[in-house]
This record gives sequence, C-alpha cells and structure tokens, in this order.
Amino acid sequence: MEAMDDQSKIEQCWFCEDSRPDPASAATVEMHAGGFIGKSDEYEVSNTASVAVPRCERCKLAHDRVEGFVAKGAIIGLLFGILPALYYLYDSGLESIRDYWKQVLISIGVFAMAGGVVAWGLGRIFIPKGVKDQRTRERHPLVQQKVLEGWKIGPKPPGL
Ligand SMILES: [Zn+2]
Repeated sequence: MEAMDDQSKIEQCWFCEDSRPDPASAATVEMHAGGFIGKSDEYEVSNTASVAVPRCERCKLAHDRVEGFVAKGAIIGLLFGILPALYYLYDSGLESIRDYWKQVLISIGVFAMAGGVVAWGLGRIFIPKGVKDQRTRERHPLVQQKVLEGWKIGPKPPGL
C-alpha cells in the first residue's frame, strides 16, 4: 500500500495535491548551473534546465488569473502614478522635468509596483482553497533536488 501512496503523490498536482496533473499545464521552473570564473566577476552559465512541476488544469487557470490580475493592477497603478506626475508638471511648468524627471519616474514606478502588489493580494482571492500559490513551485522536490546538486533557480543569475 505504501508504494502505491508514493506513486499517487508523484501523479498528483503539486499545488492542490488533489487532482491529476495535466502535462500541458505543468508549471516550469527555469534553472541553471554555473558560477564565477576563478576570482573574476565573469559569470559562466554552464548548463540550463527547466523542471516541469506537475500541475492540473484547474490550478493553472487559477494561477493565470492571478497573473493577469497583477498585470492589470500594475497598469492601473501606473496610471495613478502618471496622473499626479502630469498634474505636478502642469502645476510647476514643463521646465521642471529637467530637474525632477528622476523623481517623477521613480514615483510612477512605485505606484505601478504598489498596484501590482495590491492586485496580487486581491488576486489571491481567486485561488481556490487548498491550492498553493504559484511561487511554491520552487519548493517542489524535483527543484529542491537540483538545488542540492548545486543548481540555481532562474534561467541565469539576477542582474546578469
Ligand atoms: Zn491542482
């Protein structure tokens, strides 16, 4: 019986641990192996792989919905950031953008990010009870196994 339990665990969706995974709905985690060459700051990616985390169609739809919501939230946040920026420019004259364009861009970016974060929080409502957040794919045993083997999560190091 125990062997069967193990088997059924593998054949379960990682996110709801309830449904059978749909191959076309698998959540992929891009990974890479690599490191800095010697003591230089040159980074070499020696190998890449993508791990398919079993996911059912229902969970994929839930995750996709949240993603779409976050994107919309960021756009709304962006608009909310642009409006005060435009008002500010109107108020203090177009000339002031020469001195303040950085602050204006930063505040627009902050608004967009805040919109995305708020939407993400709201979007979680769409995730059915018992379905794990998309980010938990990085905790899947297949991914963790590769991390133990020295692989890193992501197609390449951040910022490179
Ligand atoms: Zn599922």
